[in-house]
Parts: sequence; structure tokens; C-alpha cells
Amino acid sequence: MEECFATDEQCRTYLMGLRWPEGFSCPRCAGTKAWAAQRNRLVCIACRHQTTVTAGTIFQDSRLPLRSWFRVIWQVTSQKNGASALGVQRVLGFGSYQTAWTVLHKLRRAMVRPGRDKLAGRVEVDETQVGRPGYKGRGSPTKTLIVIAAQEDGKGIGRIRMARVADGSAEQLLGFIKETVAAGSHVHTDGWKPYQGLTALGYEHEITKLKGQPLSAATEELPRVHRVASLLKRWLLGTHQGAIAPEHLDYYLDEFTFRFNRRSSASRGKLFYRLIQQAVQVPPVPYRTLVGGAAQ
Ligand SMILES: [Zn+2]
Repeated sequence: MEECFATDEQCRTYLMGLRWPEGFSCPRCAGTKAWAAQRNRLVCIACRHQTTVTAGTIFQDSRLPLRSWFRVIWQVTSQKNGASALGVQRVLGFGSYQTAWTVLHKLRRAMVRPGRDKLAGRVEVDETQVGRPGYKGRGSPTKTLIVIAAQEDGKGIGRIRMARVADGSAEQLLGFIKETVAAGSHVHTDGWKPYQGLTALGYEHEITKLKGQPLSAATEELPRVHRVASLLKRWLLGTHQGAIAPEHLDYYLDEFTFRFNRRSSASRGKLFYRLIQQAVQVPPVPYRTLVGGAAQ
């Protein structure tokens, strides 16, 4: 890592290869030839449009050197549990917590692959509540409802998806399933009424009624979602001390999902590559948008 990306120049060359794998392409006219101008600018030979390899990506307008970005990405992807803002600030010696927090949140935006495919086959779906004991923000409700979908992979867990939902209504739960699970799939839920709309939506619906059974029954009947829920809670509490505002929770769910769905990636380097590859495909996010935390 330190050898390959010791200078911003090396980082830029790496980004070029990921952003333009077929060679330079002008964002305005799709021209394929450019000359290098000062301050890392590329000038399109056909239309004279000036651009940089970071323009239009999450790296745009950042005052942080690219090699610092790369170090944060390495921190996030090389550690089993990712990195917290405090940890990044400490390890990389950033002057401010805000810088570390901002970089991590921008990266979280890159963790959802644009146009990712839906889960299919046999999928378990259930909700869980996440508490926020460390959070001291304004008007903090104590619990947030999360819905989780976990694909079956034999006895194990395949890929997952999760989202924060406003409530346990049919609109919220079925909306999530329509977005994340391919029609025609086999969806396994408990007897919660709103899920009864699944058949009408074209899913094969398996219901395991848990009412009247001891609490542990849920763990036995829908073991995959419950395993994911407990890993998620442990991660939120362990790595982030539970100190997450509800308006930012979506991005932590994306980070958890990104890492979980690639947990078997043989090499950490691949995760690093994948995150940077997605980072040059995601448009820039201004700081005020990050702080506002709007999910859309
Ligand atoms: Zn051009």
C-alpha cells in the first residue's frame, strides 16, 4: 500500500485506469484524446473541455491529498470491522475529527454499487430494532426499525440487503422487498400481517408463524436474518459505540452490507480495488448534504 501509493501521482494514475479502463473519454464530447495541462488538468483535444480524473467523482473538490484518501480506503477495507471516524483520525493523524468523518461518509456513498442486482432464490425477510445508547442528539427516539433480507445459501447466508423503514406497514415492508428481491423468488417471513401481500406481488411466500412460541423460536425459524441482525448490532455497538444519528444510519447499513456481501473475498486487496472502482462512479457529495443526511 505505502509503496504503490506513496505519491498523489501514483494514486491519480491508478484512478485513471479505473475511471477510463478503455482510455480517456471526454465527459463532454466523448473524445478519446487529451493533453495534460497544469494542476493535473486534462484538456480534450477535440472540444478543449478541461477536466480531471477526480472531477465528477466523490474525490472532487477535496482538499485532502489522494494518498490520504487511499489510506482511509485501506483502513476501511483491510480491517474486518471497517473503521470509525475516531480510529481514522488517530491512525492517519488527521487534524480534525470532521475531516475523518466526512471522508468516511463520502466513501459510504460509494459502497452501494449503482444498478446492483436483486436477491433471488430463497430469501428470509424480517425486521429488527436498533437502539442507540451512545447517541445524544436532538429528539432521539430510542429505536430505529430495520428490515433485513438474507439469501439462503445451503445452510449458510448468501448476499444480504437491509434498509431503515419508517414503520412495519405493508407499504414499507413490501416496498423494500420489491426493491431488493427479484419477483418470483421464494420469500420466507413470520406471520406478520403486512407480509401477506407478497403472493399478490408475484412472490412464493412461506410463512412461519411465531405467535405463542418462545422468543428463541424466531432465531430457529429465520436463522439467517437473525444472525445478520445480531452481527449488525454488534458492529454498530463495537466499532461505532452506537453513536449514530438516525438520519445517517442508512449509510452505515450500506457499509455493513458492502463488507458482509464480500466477506469471503479471498483478498482484502480486492475489496480495496472494488471500493475505489465504485468511488470513481459515484457523483460528488457536498459536505452540507452529508451533514443533512438526506437519504435520497
Ligand atoms: Zn471533448
